[in-house]
Amino acid sequence: MLKNDPLEQWDRENFFHPSTHLAMHARGESPTRIISGAKGVHITDRDGNRFLDAFAGLYCVNVGYGRTEIADAIAAQAQELAYYHSYVGHGTEASITLSKMILDRAPNHMSKVYFGLSGSDANETNIKLIWYYNNILGRPEKKKIISRWRGYHGSGLMTGSLTGLELFHKKFDLPLAQVIHTDAPYYFRREDQSMTEEQFSAHCAERLEAQILREGADTIAAFIGEPVLGTGGIVPPPAGYWAAIQAVLDKYDILLVADEVVTGFGRLGTMFGSEHYGMKPDLITIAKGLTSAYAPLSGSIVSDKMWKVLEQGTDENGPIGHGWTYSAHPICAAAGVANLKLIDDLDLVTNAGRMGAYLNGAMQDALSGHAHLGEVRGEGLLCAVELVKDQDSKQGFDAADKICPQIAAAMLDQGVIARAMPQGDIIGFAPPFCITEAEVDQVVAVMKNAISQVL
Ligand code: PLP
Repeated sequence: MLKNDPLEQWDRENFFHPSTHLAMHARGESPTRIISGAKGVHITDRDGNRFLDAFAGLYCVNVGYGRTEIADAIAAQAQELAYYHSYVGHGTEASITLSKMILDRAPNHMSKVYFGLSGSDANETNIKLIWYYNNILGRPEKKKIISRWRGYHGSGLMTGSLTGLELFHKKFDLPLAQVIHTDAPYYFRREDQSMTEEQFSAHCAERLEAQILREGADTIAAFIGEPVLGTGGIVPPPAGYWAAIQAVLDKYDILLVADEVVTGFGRLGTMFGSEHYGMKPDLITIAKGLTSAYAPLSGSIVSDKMWKVLEQGTDENGPIGHGWTYSAHPICAAAGVANLKLIDDLDLVTNAGRMGAYLNGAMQDALSGHAHLGEVRGEGLLCAVELVKDQDSKQGFDAADKICPQIAAAMLDQGVIARAMPQGDIIGFAPPFCITEAEVDQVVAVMKNAISQVL
């Protein structure tokens, strides 16, 4: 269709794409992909090519594409009331209903939800709330935030700092001084190969404690972590990890932020990852799965413990000095209400758990024995295949080898979208929750074929 239309040229001339090699794109050395439609787990480009999207966009279209229930709710809300703000106690039926639906699903020590638009801005909100909290409690020195290498928490000033991936720091003068990074719970790449998962978890917790003591516990406000590391390589925690970390945080009165932008609303087969791993967060970050990306919406879910102090703060200082024009935007909230209803009606959380186990098992069976397989790992509907140059030494491929981009390209040629994770040696899968066994079989077969083409 329209091969000679001007879109590609306009794209190169006008559009600043996120997370893109700008110079290569401008020179036409990397493709412009114009996506024109989608239904279920498939997307279609403007040339009519159809792909099975095994990464659900950016692990966000959890209920699948083309859901008329959500599209209709968005249209009805836009016609009835496209916008009103939520400052000084204003609300809409959609935003109030959604806040109730979220709290009904969240762990029961949570109290309120603040709405933003992206995972990045929700985490910025979290850090401001943590600083405010400690100021109200009269401990202005307790401000540093600990995050993990390989963590991903967004790409704003503070959230880009929290993100533990060098690409997001390099040449941006990040991380900011208040941020400290600690070990990733990356059992596959542990230094001491003789450690069990439990021993490695205890080792991570001991190193965290040593770091806290070095910095001074009275300077550390919070620890932020994804229940399962996502963009850093899809790394589920080793056995006992969150219990060991939680014990250290409790000991030094350090808040826990569970960044559930990927895991929230069902991806692990439970409503929240915190529930899955027995975490006791003081704040939970939500975004992607809240609306399945039908509209931009995020949230910071605040615990009872923090909420009481925030209330005290406004009694002492006046209204909280924080808010976006688009906080709790009614169109986005209507999308959220329809999305959460659909997840319940179709029992998609159960399906995510079931299909996740099927995907991880099938991938393991298909690839075991391949000379370059490091490991297949995953939890729920998250799955990673890590490749190695050499199985004995576990030496990885360099990003410059472009092994995974080549595999992802070979998969695309066979109609399946997987994600070459930024590390260079990991392919990630995070399909919509409505994927079927037959579609998983297709993804696994195409992955197996693509690896054998490239390696
Ligand atoms: N937190 C996590 C765990 C994420 O995976 C992401 C995005 O992938 C973010 C935060 C940032 O969300 P956004 O891209 O909506 O700003």
